[in-house]
Amino acid sequence: MAASRAADVIIVGAGSVGAPAAMSMAEAGLKVFVLDRLPSVGQGSNKRAIGGLRATHSDPAKIRICLRSLEVFATWEERFGDKIEWHKGGYSYVAYRPEEERTLKDLLAVQKASGLNIDWLDAGALREIIPDLNPDGLVGGRSLPTTGTPLPCSPSTRSTAGRRGSAPSSASASGSPRSSRAAAASAASARTRASTRPRSSSTRPGPGPRRSRA
Ligand SMILES: Cc1cc2nc3c(=O)[nH]c(=O)nc-3n(C[C@H](O)[C@H](O)[C@H](O)COP(=O)(O)OP(=O)(O)OC[C@H]3O[C@@H](n4cnc5c(N)ncnc54)[C@H](O)[C@@H]3O)c2cc1C
Repeated sequence: MAASRAADVIIVGAGSVGAPAAMSMAEAGLKVFVLDRLPSVGQGSNKRAIGGLRATHSDPAKIRICLRSLEVFATWEERFGDKIEWHKGGYSYVAYRPEEERTLKDLLAVQKASGLNIDWLDAGALREIIPDLNPDGLVGGRSLPTTGTPLPCSPSTRSTAGRRGSAPSSASASGSPRSSRAAAASAASARTRASTRPRSSSTRPGPGPRRSRA
């Protein structure tokens, strides 16, 4: 195909990584050609994700990438006008067992050093943020209020994202920032279309992430 011969970069996979990478490269002036074996963008793992964006990882590089992602999502509407319904609901991890407390506290050092404004909260402080957390045995946890969820699944944004995402197919040429942005928006949309609106809090005890209202 003529388009592939003219490309500076060929990206295989129009999912969570490929679509935004294509967008950034196209914004930087490169001609990008995106290929996917599925009939439209965002049909792989992207579509199955529940839509939570967090930066509370253990690897400094991943924390930095996720902080950048949070910035991109938080400013998307302002930059591009798409109503992605960014909701800064926070993301919390809670501990009900000493080993969970240890793991979460151990991670704080690398998370703080990587730029996260995060600290340990005891059970009382955590329940001020998430009042309906089960208090039985709750030791404490961490919460990062700047994390959130995009929800481009309202009727208005679904139709916009759907139109934008209709052009790319199994072999999609993305030569411009605009078409790459369409693919990135569509990938995000495909993911959240398959999801339900996340609960603002959880009352289940045990390890794992808990979204909070903070
Ligand atoms: C149930 C579930 C919930 C999740 N929830 C979250 C969440 O809340 N927050 C979060 O951050 N992450 C979440 N994730 C993880 C997240 O979805 C993945 O980490 C992310 O989508 C991976 O991005 P990717 O680009 O590597 O893969 P994908 O998004 O799957 O993209 C890969 C693309 O490459 C294409 N492809 C693969 N091989 C080829 C080939 N040989 N030729 C052509 N095309 C090819 C695929 O068709 C696909 O479109 C969740 C995952 C699952 C399954």
